Amino acid sequence: MSSSRPRRIALISVHTSPLAQPGTGDAGGMNVYVWQTAQCLARRGVKVEIFTRATSSADAPTVAAADGITVRHIVAGPFEGLDKRDLPAQLCAFTAGVLRAEAMQRPGYYDLIHSHYWLSGQVGWLARERWGVPLVHTAHTLAAVKNAALAKGDAAEPRLRVIGEQQVVAEADRLVANTDTERNELITMYDADPGRIDIVTPGADLDCYTPGSRSDARAELGLPEEASIVTFVGRIQPLKAPDVLLSAAAPLIERQRATGRRPVHVLIVGGPSGSGLDRPTALIDLAAELGISDAVTFLPPQPATRLAQVYRSSDLVAVPSYSESFGLVAIEAQACGVPVLAAHVGGLGVAVADGRSGMLVDGHLIGDWTTALEKMLSSPGQLNAMGRRAREHAEQFSWEHTTDALLASYARAMDSFAGNRVPAVGVTPLVRATRRWGRRRARM
Ligand code: UDP
Repeated sequence: MSSSRPRRIALISVHTSPLAQPGTGDAGGMNVYVWQTAQCLARRGVKVEIFTRATSSADAPTVAAADGITVRHIVAGPFEGLDKRDLPAQLCAFTAGVLRAEAMQRPGYYDLIHSHYWLSGQVGWLARERWGVPLVHTAHTLAAVKNAALAKGDAAEPRLRVIGEQQVVAEADRLVANTDTERNELITMYDADPGRIDIVTPGADLDCYTPGSRSDARAELGLPEEASIVTFVGRIQPLKAPDVLLSAAAPLIERQRATGRRPVHVLIVGGPSGSGLDRPTALIDLAAELGISDAVTFLPPQPATRLAQVYRSSDLVAVPSYSESFGLVAIEAQACGVPVLAAHVGGLGVAVADGRSGMLVDGHLIGDWTTALEKMLSSPGQLNAMGRRAREHAEQFSWEHTTDALLASYARAMDSFAGNRVPAVGVTPLVRATRRWGRRRARM
């Protein structure tokens, strides 16, 4: 095994800062991923510098965020109010800021670049060429995958993004995929070279997310003591399908009411993001239309320690997403000893052990989700057993484990790059990808 290890890495996260509160706007699992792995890398002696776009005039150019971790805020476009869709036009400004920051350092300052999401991959691609160091890229989500499973009324990702992703896939030295499913998507939808893909499963903070007293958690959050609580955690957007959960829970709530049995309560935690369903009031309106407003609690995005209490207060956590490259919420809930009911899409098939730590549902038919909810909630003994197995299942997914695999990927990138320093000429992977793209367009 190779022992190549970077001393200092440039980690690029253009569109969202690891210092932002996840669960609303553009901040979600990627922020948690970047921050958690940066901390693990720093503890192992790798210096991490994170480049992100300044989104406030109060953002200092550099912030010593933790031991061994510096966040560099790059000015590229207006601080506030710039939509993610407008970011491609700011990539030149952002890249100029990244190159300038490096130029102020001694030569060979960074040993490796790790880019997160395609916008950062574009920046990393150019930095790789300028600095002569390898680029490792993690997509986090892929437009072609998302477009193949769009929620009703959700806007398709633009072709511009698919092209941009394809370029990064062709140019990166290594690609990090969350699961085997994502690896296959990269190969079949983006023509990725299978030999350059590493599967690195994400993790959860297993010290923060632990089982605990359900009644204490409910008392702290002001939730009903005598109810079955089904929880949704994440950004309120069509892709995450919180509306499917509300619609599926409604008949169950009605039935329990009519029969006087243990009530069902839905807890929704997170803020708006994206377009469509994400009007802050859209879900509140839906609950009112369904006649279940009194059985639904909405909470704004919560920091991790309080989110752990959210999970502990729940009988069940639902992840009904249309597409999910992994689904950190599913692992965090299980780490708290709570079973998960999830859509059988993307990485959720790995994140949830079907029938053991939770259940997977095919498709998004409301009736199927009502049946699945009822099945799980109606047998408390089985739910408790699943909860115990859920913690065991989650223990396989730690950020330390993720970091071991990332370091192995970095070593591969450094070794292959060392043997291939001169930029390729002629029919490069990029030329091949571009030709294929042209052929596809011609057939459209
Ligand atoms: N999250 C949070 N507070 C909230 C809601 C979500 O900290 O109120 C975090 C959550 O802990 C998880 C992340 O946001 O780590 C969401 O990640 P996931 O992979 O489930 O979804 P993504 O945002 O990547 O689509």
